[in-house]
Amino acid sequence: MTSPSLPAQIPSRLPSLSVIGAERAPAASGESLDNLDPGTGRMLNTLPAGSTADIDRAVAAARARFEGGQWRDMKPAQRKKTMLALADALESAAEEFAVLETLDTGKPISDTRGVDVPLALDTLRFYAESIDKIYGEVGPSGPDKLSYAVHDPLGVIGAIVPWNFPLLMAMWKIAPAIAMGNSMVVKPSELSSLTALRLGELALEAGLPEGVLNVVTGTGPDAGAALALHQDVDMIAFTGSGPVGRQLMHYAADSNLKRVSLELGGKSPHIVFADYPDLDRAAQAVAWGIFYNQGQVCTAGSRLLVERSIHGEFVEKVLAVARTIVPGDPLDPATKLGAVISEKQLDGVLVKIARAQQEGAALRLGGSRARVESGGFFLDPTVFDAVDNRASLAREEVFGPVLAVIPFDTPQEALALANDTDYGLASGLWTGSIDVAQAFARRLRAGMVWVNGWDACDITMPFGGFRQSGFGRDRSLHALYKYADMKSVTISTTGIFPA
Ligand code: NAD
Repeated sequence: MTSPSLPAQIPSRLPSLSVIGAERAPAASGESLDNLDPGTGRMLNTLPAGSTADIDRAVAAARARFEGGQWRDMKPAQRKKTMLALADALESAAEEFAVLETLDTGKPISDTRGVDVPLALDTLRFYAESIDKIYGEVGPSGPDKLSYAVHDPLGVIGAIVPWNFPLLMAMWKIAPAIAMGNSMVVKPSELSSLTALRLGELALEAGLPEGVLNVVTGTGPDAGAALALHQDVDMIAFTGSGPVGRQLMHYAADSNLKRVSLELGGKSPHIVFADYPDLDRAAQAVAWGIFYNQGQVCTAGSRLLVERSIHGEFVEKVLAVARTIVPGDPLDPATKLGAVISEKQLDGVLVKIARAQQEGAALRLGGSRARVESGGFFLDPTVFDAVDNRASLAREEVFGPVLAVIPFDTPQEALALANDTDYGLASGLWTGSIDVAQAFARRLRAGMVWVNGWDACDITMPFGGFRQSGFGRDRSLHALYKYADMKSVTISTTGIFPA
């Protein structure tokens, strides 16, 4: 990988065609979508505006490859070798991927170099290595029968992914699904398709049989809906917003009852107790827990619940860290806070900031657009104190760099506030007491609990939510099995040794 200190070099070619079978294809309609650089507001390239015809072709390519058996029936060792070859190719192209992701999303290059691409690589290698460790079960057998259960790949998986971690979210679905022997059609976000397209090209170059990984660009209502309604798609694996997640369940019910897994939003609490011995460390984590990736993280610690006895002191510490997090050019290796994804997203965050002020929250920092002269979509880190947990700022996902501070008096109140949300994705807890840690870890209604740390990005641990944060898990060995059906086989035998 290129040294992080080197300035980013813009690739001479931006991927601009869908990958269907072995082809790089424009949209069947000939229509295209403008793709902007959020760091400058300027046009980067155009993307195929895929719709039903393109999705039909990609699903047919995936189905043909699945039924042909060239991938699912490949010897596990060979399938693993092919996926590891793709990982090697991705590693060799890591700098190109990091730059594409930064141009496409406005994320700081230090993040795409240091987080997005390396984590995508870890994911690919983790699932490649798992291929020859997928075992079934043998049932109680006897002289007259042999019973066993095996994991059968589902067939054609549609993945619909968001713009906040485009490569990583796609990889969280692609790697376990193809490791299990499925074929795929990936529909990246229309705001951030470049790395998925490049990955589709790289997969062909690395020897993945054509049709195993198809990537079709287009909008949600066109390409996304066509995929989710398709009669020959066996499952939709989705990461994105709650409203679209609900729509996908309707599409599944209205088509072929395909499976759906949903990784949705969150309003995750960061709970800080006065007995945590290193409040400076906690303040760093609280600040980065919300401002990392411009706040566009489904697990963002967007509610800070802080024990009242340290409320003033702790908020000052968080503000001190936040003041050091200054928006900058995403391609500059020194930048730690980049652009938000689009002008529409920026305007939506500003509306939520204005509403929080109307609802009586105390604005302590930020609240405005930044770096206007760049033409890009930048926001200052924003902190609101004295937020009521019933206010919209505490209930609705902002998906921007906006922290809501809510003081509490007792552990009981902290737990009630933490769980008083429609969501249940992540929870952070800072305490010096193992008793408090264990009691909260048991009672927090969230798919992930982090104690004295924030967002351990661990591929070995399941990732996903409770309640309206969705269902189904990405990461870990559990994710493999969501892309499989279990089949039980019983072979009746006639004993050659009579009883
Ligand atoms: P989004 O739901 O608007 O879009 C996600 C994807 O769905 C995109 O590819 C989009 O084109 C597609 N889509 C939109 N409408 C569709 C339709 N009618 N049919 C089929 N597909 C459709 O979400 P977003 O704005 O890209 O991402 C932000 C959201 O994602 C946030 O709510 C965030 O919390 C969530 N998210 C969750 C996780 C997680 O793992 N839980 C991770 C990242 C982001």
